Amino acid sequence: MVKEMSASNTITKTVWQYSKTLPEDTMEFLKGIALDYSKVKNYTYNRYSGIKSLGRLTPVFDIMSEVRHSGIRTRLGLPSAYFDPAIIEAVADIKGMWGMLKNKIGTLITANENLSDEDRVYLRTVLKLDKIYAAVLCRENYEMPKKAEGLDLDVERLNNLLRRLTRKHLAKPETGSMDCFSIAPSGYAYRNGAICIASRTAGQRIPLPLKDDRICDRQIRICIKKDYAALAIPVETKIRKHKDYGSTVYIHIGYQDMFTLSNGNIYGQSLDGMTSQETQRLTDKNKGRAKMRAAYKHSMESGDREKAGSIESNNLGTEKYDRRKEKERAKTQTFINTEINRMFAEEKPERIVITKPVTVGKTKLQSKSANRKITRNFNGYVRERLSFKCQLHSIELVEINSKGTGGICSCCGAEGKRQPDGFWCPDCGYKATISLNGAKNIEKKYNTKKVRAKK
Ligand SMILES: [Zn+2]
Repeated sequence: MVKEMSASNTITKTVWQYSKTLPEDTMEFLKGIALDYSKVKNYTYNRYSGIKSLGRLTPVFDIMSEVRHSGIRTRLGLPSAYFDPAIIEAVADIKGMWGMLKNKIGTLITANENLSDEDRVYLRTVLKLDKIYAAVLCRENYEMPKKAEGLDLDVERLNNLLRRLTRKHLAKPETGSMDCFSIAPSGYAYRNGAICIASRTAGQRIPLPLKDDRICDRQIRICIKKDYAALAIPVETKIRKHKDYGSTVYIHIGYQDMFTLSNGNIYGQSLDGMTSQETQRLTDKNKGRAKMRAAYKHSMESGDREKAGSIESNNLGTEKYDRRKEKERAKTQTFINTEINRMFAEEKPERIVITKPVTVGKTKLQSKSANRKITRNFNGYVRERLSFKCQLHSIELVEINSKGTGGICSCCGAEGKRQPDGFWCPDCGYKATISLNGAKNIEKKYNTKKVRAKK
């Protein structure tokens, strides 16, 4: 879900609309478009996600006309109502990937003890200016940015470091799912309760009968389900202002409890109880399914086709399994949204301070159950919703670096101990939950920073 602030006081929100059950040939058509859509995206990734393209990602129109002239559109026979959004989306993904890369390099620069403060100023400035960053990467000449003028630097050494870090951490965006694509406004119209979308034959459109009569005049995202389509419609919502919102709250975002505030209040209590119960259920379920799969194999090998067929149709279907999973996820999401709203209503914040998400040193966990838990963990969703709702309610959201907010005693500043039953400080004897100690440290850090900035 992408939300952007527009110039007027509104915010874009996504509303889902559903088609009625669609005939098989329509489903096949949608799948074909989604496949070609992903081919165009992959082509764009391959061609523009490298070091040499960094300086050329804006404006996207140049890339669009280049890709169009490459002949891939004619080869695929993909109407431009799908072709253009595919390129725009791919370029946005590439930009997002550069954004993540810059964040990562920024963190590495901060942690690198071989750099002086002046070195860091130079590197951070270059990271902010794409044209100069691109010139450094391609070993081209560039003008020294104003902020770095007069600094005592070994520019060649720093540029080498930057090139090395970029090469090491630059990734290509991964091919996304092949069951979604976007359609430009020029590619659809409404008729008789259906949205009629561009087909591969000029002038011909394919109707998708809809369950409600909502209409849209912007780009729509179409997601292919089993025998219907789900349409993500962007809708403008007015930003709300609350005159009575005036406090600043400091929040530790956790895995057990969603929010722990420095004032001791907790919202989204036992979020992990909900998700770990579901993780356990899926683990058990998968064990059962593995047994059934073995029984199926055994029946097939011993020639008992009838038994195999019965196992296949009764125990190995994914439909019910997926539906249940989807339902559990929706339940957790509702809980998260309700608790964020409750926090707003009770705390009336004008400003919320949290820590930046930690992304350095991504490790893949070996255990399947742990992996499932990670993919099902809602931390990203919580952050996304918090950020969206803050925009919607005109609340300032401040993200500070998490360094020093975890292991230090919020009372005396000494190094404390994080134990299974909570935080304990051997120096002053302070005891609290790890989350509460974390939230108090966020408050402390934010306010020390502010005092320092005022001086
Ligand atoms: Zn202490």
